[in-house]
Order: sequence, then structure tokens, then C-alpha cells
Amino acid sequence: ESSPAYVGRFAPSPTGYLHMGSLIAAVASYLDARANHGRWLLRIEDVDEIRTQNDAKDEIVRALIRFGFEWDDELVTQSDRYHMYQSVLNDLIEGGNVYPCSCSRREIALHARRGVDGPIYPGTCRLGMKNKLSSPAWRLKVRGGLIRFTDLIQGRVEQDLQGEVGDYVVLRADGCWAYQLAVVVDDAAFGVTHVVRGSDLLDSTSRQIGLQQMLNYPSLTYAHIPVIANMQGEKLSKQTKAEPLLAGLESQQLFFALDFLGQNPPAELLGASLVVLWSWAVASWDLAKVPQKRSVSVTFKHKNE
Ligand code: GLU
Repeated sequence: ESSPAYVGRFAPSPTGYLHMGSLIAAVASYLDARANHGRWLLRIEDVDEIRTQNDAKDEIVRALIRFGFEWDDELVTQSDRYHMYQSVLNDLIEGGNVYPCSCSRREIALHARRGVDGPIYPGTCRLGMKNKLSSPAWRLKVRGGLIRFTDLIQGRVEQDLQGEVGDYVVLRADGCWAYQLAVVVDDAAFGVTHVVRGSDLLDSTSRQIGLQQMLNYPSLTYAHIPVIANMQGEKLSKQTKAEPLLAGLESQQLFFALDFLGQNPPAELLGASLVVLWSWAVASWDLAKVPQKRSVSVTFKHKNE
């Protein structure tokens, strides 16, 4: 038997309901998996306990069911997997690849240059913590040299982790596991081969590849889809007041997502049943048609057909 050639996933953070931005990421990852006869997994990324909202997981799952998404295997919830992250952290400690850090945000801000994603940690605690803390943050000692990969949509990407990101946190001082660690551990643990997600995460990818290399995990194929913006040009998210997807309009919303993804759904399919729309979408899916960026700004408050 051949091993699965394609395993994709959708990995929402339950910080709010499913909105058009997250629907588009779900649709793209789902169609790419199905069109490649692959499996598609669903994983709830609730490691950030401060931002997690109580009902969001159930709401997201209910919304996905309403749209007719069918995931393979059991739903995975990251808060059930802390023991796994701890055992990987133990390996990293044993390998000398992480160190505890007691610096406060304020101390870091004082000395740090700005990187691609916040301040570049100046490495203060690499040689030992200044203040002994009982529950420090743990930082990864990033290696020098360029991380290079070719994104199926965004093309060639390279990043110098030391120069542009710095030693980043894998376990926060408040005890929460960092997204970067959990996502790498789980993609490997569940045999994910293809990551299709929003291009707001393109800058995180090198960090994830660096960690995969350190842990001798297989490398993945990446496709970062354009991110949808609201009228102010901000990424659509709960923080920017993205509207929840109104129930009962799934076919129109799916049609919009397909159009946003450059798939040119024929006008006759507007208002078609979900079954008809999905089967057209799987049969017609073409990743090469997904644009790198989309400049359309839309609000979903009012329906406009
Ligand atoms: N949980 C992340 C988010 O909702 C996505 C993680 C991923 O697809 O790698 O932004």
C-alpha cells in the first residue's frame, strides 16, 4: 500500500465564530486536498488560553457542518495535547536548542530592533537568566543562515531567522504553548503534507521550517492564499469586527469564496445547492488560478445580490 500522498488540514483558532476570511481558508485547504484525492483534517488551535472563547469551537464546527465540509479522522483539539508539546520541549532542552528567558516585554522593547513580527529578541538570556523565575518563557535558539522554500502561490521565499525574527518563544511565561511549536508538532504528528492557509502566516513559515529541521521532521508543501481585507484594508478577523456568516446563505457564501479564490464559478451556479456547488468546485479546482493578492475590499454586513 502506498502511503498517503496528500494530507491537508484546516486549523482554526477558536477566538471567535467562522467569518468569511476563515471560510476562504477552509475552502481552499479542503478543495486542494479533495482535488488531490487527499485526506483533510480539522484541528482546533486553542493553545492561546487568553484569546480562546468558550463557545467558539462548537460554533466553528457547527458552521463547517452547515457548509457540508467532511473531515477525515477525529477532530483534534490542541488543549488535549499539552503532554506532547511538553515532551518535545524536553527534547529541545536536552538538545540544548532552547533556553529559559525572564525578560519582560518592556525590557525587550528597550533593546530590540524591530523584526518581521515584533521586536527581535536581543538574546539577553542565552547565557543565563538575569532574574530567576519559577516559570520562565522558553525561547528557541534559532540557527544562522537562510531558510528557503517555494510557496505554491506566493513563489520563492527566504528568511534569515537570526536577522529578521530572533530567538522566538515556544512556551510563554504565562504557561501557554506558542502557536509555532504546537503547529509544527501537530502537522508532523498527524502526517500533514500540505499546508494551505492565509498569507498572514507566510512570515511564520520560516520559523516553522526551522523548528521542523531541528526536530528532524519531514518538510511540508506550502500554499498561502490571499487574505481578505475589510473596507479599511485591515485583514478580516474578529478583531476588525468581521461579521459572522449568516446561516441560510451558505451557497452564496461558498460561491463568493470560490470567486475570491480565482476559480471563476459560472454564474448559473449562484444559488445552486451546496452539493452541486461542491462537486463543481472539487472537479474544477485549480490552485494555479488562486491570485497572490486580492485588492478587493468588501464588507459582508449587507448582502448585495
Ligand atoms: N490557527 C491559525 C489561525 O487560525 C492557523 C494555523 C495554520 O493554519 O497553520 O490563524
